[in-house]
Amino acid sequence: MAGAENRYDVLVVGGGHAGCEAALAAARMGARTALLNLYLDNTALMACNPSIGGPAKGHLVREGSALGGEQAEAADRSAVLLRRLNTSKGPAVQALRAQCDLKDYAAHFTMAVETQKNLHVRQELVTDLWVDGGRARGVKTRYGPLYEAKAIVIAGGTYLGGRVFIGDESFSSGPLGQVPSKELPRSLREAGIKTGRMRTDTTPRLHLDSLDLSSLTAQGSSGEPLAFSLWNEGKIYEGYFCYLTRSGPETHRIVRENLCRSPLYSGAMAGRGPRYCPSIEDKVARFPERESHPVFLEPVSGSNREVYMQNFSTSLPFDVQLAMVRSLPGCEKARIVRPGYTIEYDYIFPTQLLPSLETKAVGGLFFAGQVNGTSGYEEAAAQGLLAGINAALTARGEPPLVLSRGEAYLGVLVDDLVTRGTDEPYRMLTSRCEHRLILRHDNAGRRLSPIGRKLGLIDDCRWGRLMASWKRVDDEIERLEGARIRPSDGLNSALAEAGSPPLSETVSAADLLRRPEVTYGLVEKFSPSPAAPVGEEILALEVEIKYEGYIERQRRQVARLAKMEGVRLPPDLDYSGIPGLLSESRQKLEALRPVNLGQAGRISGVTPADIHLLSVWLNALQRRDGREELQED
Ligand SMILES: Cc1cc2nc3c(=O)[nH]c(=O)nc-3n(C[C@H](O)[C@H](O)[C@H](O)COP(=O)(O)OP(=O)(O)OC[C@H]3O[C@@H](n4cnc5c(N)ncnc54)[C@H](O)[C@@H]3O)c2cc1C
Repeated sequence: MAGAENRYDVLVVGGGHAGCEAALAAARMGARTALLNLYLDNTALMACNPSIGGPAKGHLVREGSALGGEQAEAADRSAVLLRRLNTSKGPAVQALRAQCDLKDYAAHFTMAVETQKNLHVRQELVTDLWVDGGRARGVKTRYGPLYEAKAIVIAGGTYLGGRVFIGDESFSSGPLGQVPSKELPRSLREAGIKTGRMRTDTTPRLHLDSLDLSSLTAQGSSGEPLAFSLWNEGKIYEGYFCYLTRSGPETHRIVRENLCRSPLYSGAMAGRGPRYCPSIEDKVARFPERESHPVFLEPVSGSNREVYMQNFSTSLPFDVQLAMVRSLPGCEKARIVRPGYTIEYDYIFPTQLLPSLETKAVGGLFFAGQVNGTSGYEEAAAQGLLAGINAALTARGEPPLVLSRGEAYLGVLVDDLVTRGTDEPYRMLTSRCEHRLILRHDNAGRRLSPIGRKLGLIDDCRWGRLMASWKRVDDEIERLEGARIRPSDGLNSALAEAGSPPLSETVSAADLLRRPEVTYGLVEKFSPSPAAPVGEEILALEVEIKYEGYIERQRRQVARLAKMEGVRLPPDLDYSGIPGLLSESRQKLEALRPVNLGQAGRISGVTPADIHLLSVWLNALQRRDGREELQED
């Protein structure tokens, strides 16, 4: 048994993006929590690109904010450039992307975890998981102490069994220069958790003063005030630029001539790499017809001179990296401060997890972040938040929070992982989400804050602000439906300017807004509001009115999905006793043991006919159990 001081409700192993969110959520829900991190100076380290957000990833960050998470706040506080992406596309895929000062981002999280009530942060290298009677009881650490808890979250990122590759060089390591976690993966396997290998790579970092940026295209912030967090006022970020350069025939020649020296092609690595973030050698090999690839040079912090090279990750030998870098315009005299490299690491097969992120094999043991086979700070933080919430609920003996695919991108992310699994680093994409129109960036608060409020993660002041904002939008939608707009010369010339046909008869203000070219600003000019919505409220209002029909259809689909999700499957269901099931389906159902009919239907290879059989069987089972209960009475 651990000493009283080391007995907690929740233990979180790992101080990365997932671990910090998990520990903050659990502690904010009142759980006595310890965050154990092998090296405190790497808290919330951005080991790769110093940016947060983008389509789908940005949705996850905003959803985290709506649930009471911290990443959006860290991104806002450390942003040096913030842009809205996909403005020419539909509202469902618009999202924010921030370029962050990586030191400020890490400092924000460090301060947040170190000042959080109920949370103790300790530098500890966790070596062993302590399991007793099928339940996680605690962990053992390198420095000696035994820690005990009712629930444990493992968020070890790329450190578990980490091995770095640069050309022919390969050595045991966490992200370059960090200590790897060697013992913990062995202990996890002993506890029955199955693991595989994955890899991911990063770019060389250059010294800013060695670059000639004068001939390159600079990209700055958008002029629109923006914020990731639901709780921050939008801000315009000025004074930061990243620079566009391009690889060319000479770069590609160097890569091609040295491909045999790349560990990617020598067979030295077993793990699969990220499909959506291929290395420059992968791009050159896979797309030989392309003569050039864009490369963004991004200063990483105001407190050093390092420049990240977006789209230029590599694990070629150092001398080749230098030659490749110097073949890029503006980089002819570049000095490499840190080399690019690949890291290979252990991940756990995520199909071993329940939708709460708790393992099926060991009660009270949760996993979150890159260790679950994902890639990216946003995917990690979102999972960390969910795992932290559920660890706190488990410690209280309460049922877990499960988010469905119709409620949140986070629901889609977790469902994809636990239902389909992944054998390459999983990245969140808008195309993975079938209910995109109702899972928007602008309505994340409306979808998820009521849950965050119930969990105690949204305080009265924030809740009050949200309610006032929703009321402004709802009242204005109602007003626009009722207000009449008459044709006039002024209106028709404004419509002509917007590229919309003139109005010939009186219509409701809402109908006028339904025209694709017409904005709320135009309508409000001719039908002034006593309490007009502001900022993102306008986007939410426009989308709700313009896409009403589509939104309604998606809501009906989600309601149907909810019915299927509501049919629970007993964890010990004997699938071999269900007549007519295809044997492939039976094997897959037995292997995954889905928690409900909805999840069963999403297992690849399980057919709608099998789901029908399963549903009929469950009904029969319920009727029989009902009869038996009546007889017993
Ligand atoms: C080389 C490289 C390339 C990358 N490329 C990309 C990319 O292209 N795109 C992208 O989106 N993301 C990329 N990333 C991924 C990004 O860094 C991660 O997705 C993100 O950091 C994952 O967050 P996490 O919290 O799960 O893990 P991490 O940030 O890795 O944090 C893990 C934490 O666990 C701690 N820890 C581990 N084991 C123990 C132990 N036994 N005891 C105590 N503490 C422990 C570590 O100290 C660390 O604090 C890359 C990362 C690396 C290293």
